[in-house]
Amino acid sequence: MKKHLTNPIFEIISQVAGEMQVQAFVIGGFVRDLLLNRDNKQDIDIVVLGSGIDFAHQVAAKLNEDTPVKFFKNFGTAMLNFHGWKIEFVGARKESYRRNSRKPIVEDGTNEDDQNRRDFTINAMAINLTRENYGQLVDPFNGISDLKEKIIRTPLDPDITFSDDPLRMMRAIRFATQLCFTIEPSCFEAITRNCERISIVSMERVSDELNQIIQAGVPSAGFRLLDETGLLKIIFPEFCELKGSEIIDGKGHKDNFHHTLAVLDNVAEVSNDLWLRWAAILHDIAKPVTKKFVQGTGWTFHAHEFKGAKMVPNIFRQLKLPLNEKMHYVEKLVLLHLRPIVLAEDVVTDSAVRRLLFEAGEDIDDLMLLCNADITSKNPNKVRRYLANFNIVRQKLREIEEKDQLRNWQPPVTGEVIMKTFGIPPSKSVGIIKDAITEAILEGEIANNFDEAYQLMLRLGEKLGLDKKNS
Ligand code: ATP
Ligand code: MG
Repeated sequence: MKKHLTNPIFEIISQVAGEMQVQAFVIGGFVRDLLLNRDNKQDIDIVVLGSGIDFAHQVAAKLNEDTPVKFFKNFGTAMLNFHGWKIEFVGARKESYRRNSRKPIVEDGTNEDDQNRRDFTINAMAINLTRENYGQLVDPFNGISDLKEKIIRTPLDPDITFSDDPLRMMRAIRFATQLCFTIEPSCFEAITRNCERISIVSMERVSDELNQIIQAGVPSAGFRLLDETGLLKIIFPEFCELKGSEIIDGKGHKDNFHHTLAVLDNVAEVSNDLWLRWAAILHDIAKPVTKKFVQGTGWTFHAHEFKGAKMVPNIFRQLKLPLNEKMHYVEKLVLLHLRPIVLAEDVVTDSAVRRLLFEAGEDIDDLMLLCNADITSKNPNKVRRYLANFNIVRQKLREIEEKDQLRNWQPPVTGEVIMKTFGIPPSKSVGIIKDAITEAILEGEIANNFDEAYQLMLRLGEKLGLDKKNS
C-alpha cells in the first residue's frame, strides 16, 4: 500500500509515531476510497494507540506552519487542516452501548477494539503508518473482498451493530447508494428488524444521511432500500403515501411513488443541486391528499401543486431541513411545476410566457429542468408531443426574456412613487395600483416602461378617488 500514501502528511505522522513510540494507523473512509480509486472528501482519520490530542499537537509542531489544532477533550479527538485536507486524530477506543442512547460508553482500547466498533467491513480497514510496518493493510474482516464484491456488511452481528447505533442503518443505505453496492442479506434483514430504533437518532443526523442519498448518482436506489427496510415510513411517511395505484371503473392512475423516483433520477442526471432534487421529491407530494375519481373524467389531483407547496414547510420542519430561502425555492418549484407543461399543451401566448417568467424569476431554468424531468409517460407519442411543445415554450421564453428582461423584474412604478404622487400612507390602495400595473404589463396592455406605467397609475388613482398632489 506504500506507494498509495502519496500525501506527505503520512510521512510526518509516521515520524511522530516513531518519536512518541506509539502506533498510528489511517483508517475508515480514506482507506476505502483509496482502494476503490475513488475521490475522497479530503478527510483523513488517524487512530493512535495513545492520546489522539497529544499526537495531533506533535504533528502540528512538525508542520512548519502555524497550524492550529482544534480539539474536543470530551471525545478525545483532535483535528487539523493540512493543505485543504481535514485530518482527524483519535485514540483507539472500545465502545459499549446502552439501550436508550446511540452515544456509547468509551474506554481506551486496542487497534482491534477500534476496528470492531466500525460500522462496515469496508470502513474498518486500516493502513499502518508505524515505521516498521509502514503501508501494511490491517483488514480483520476481509473488507477487501467485500469491496471487490460490492457488499455492505457489518463486522460483528448486524442486529447488535444496528441496535447499538441505529444511524448505521441509514449509513448502510447511504453507502450502498453512493457506491452502487448491495447490502448483504442478513444485514438487510437486521435493518428491517431494527428499523423502529431509528427514532432514537436525532432527525438532523438522519437527514444528513438522507441528503447524501439524494445526492448520489441514482438516488432512487436509496429510496427503494429505505422503503423496503421500513425506514422510509418512519422518517418520511408522506413519501410512502405516494405508493400504489387505485382502479375504479377500469381506470387506474400512475403509481406516484415510482413516478416521483423516476423524476428524481431524471433531475439527478442533469443537476447536482440538492434543492432541485428536493423539489423533484416533493413535486407531487400532495397527490394522495387531493386524489379524486370524477365520473366521466377519471382520476384528478386538483390543485395538488398548491397543496403540495403548502406541505413543504411542515415536511422541512419535520426532517429538520433548513427553513430558509432553500425551502422557499422548493415551495416555489412545487407550486409552479405544472405551469410550463400547461403552457406547452396550449397555444403559447406572449402574456402567458411573460407571467411564468415573472413568477419563476431567476429559478426559471431550474423549473424547466424539473418540468422536463417530469415527463415520464410510457406512451412515446405523448412524450414526443410534449417535448415538441416544450421546445416551443423554451424558444418563447428566450425571446420574451431578451425583449422584456423579466428575470428579477420589478414594476417600473414603485410603491413609494404611488404614495408620494397621491400623498397617501402605505395602504390597500397602494397594493391595488401596483398589482394592476404589474398585471397590465404582463398582459401586454401597456409597455414595460416608466411613462406608460405612470399614466396608468394616474388613471387608476382617479378611479379610486385619489387626488394627485402637486409636489
Ligand atoms: P465519507 O466519505 O462519507 O466521509 P466515511 O467512511 O469517511 O465516509 P465518516 O462519517 O467520515 O464516513 O466516518 C469515518 C469512519 O468512522 C467510517 O469510515 C467508519 O469507520 C467510522 N464510523 C463513522 N460513523 C460510524 C458509526 N455510526 N458507527 C460506526 N463507525 C462509524
Ligand atoms: Mg469521512
